[in-house]
Amino acid sequence: MTDIKEIAQLGADVLRQKADAINYINSAENVALISALRDTLASTQGVGIAAPQISISKRIIIVASRPSARYPYAPLMEPTVMINPNFTALSDITEKDWEGCLSIPGIRALVPRYTNIEITYTDLNNQQITAHLTGFIARIFQHEFDHLQGIVYLDRVEDKLDIFAESEYFKLINNRAQ
Ligand code: ZN
Repeated sequence: MTDIKEIAQLGADVLRQKADAINYINSAENVALISALRDTLASTQGVGIAAPQISISKRIIIVASRPSARYPYAPLMEPTVMINPNFTALSDITEKDWEGCLSIPGIRALVPRYTNIEITYTDLNNQQITAHLTGFIARIFQHEFDHLQGIVYLDRVEDKLDIFAESEYFKLINNRAQ
């Protein structure tokens, strides 16, 4: 049975709250939450989702880079559930690139993110994982992590001129590909 939840939209309080840590990874509540997050993400063209986006203020994200119409150049990876994630930047270097968000439909913007990060999280087997992320996947992680802090990507845009309607973003990307 799939369990597709409504996506919280910008303006909803839950997107502005700091999410709570998960204490019992295998609780029934948590298992249901992860399943709903997976199903909801799979029903979209998104490359990641955070529990607050389905109105549950808990520290769980899924990072699921894959090429799509929304992100044609995204690398393909297995969707990865990350519980109580954290990260540190391995250098001060940041790069601006395009982001969108299921909670902010119709908009794209250039957002600076660290290009090189070390992440930690608890996986579904209750193992503590450490990993090194770069580029687009590091970007997705930082975007989803922000959702757990009550931050959305528009908060990180440096110049208002870096905010585009999605239709204009697609024109730009299509011209670049030609
Ligand atoms: Zn988002």
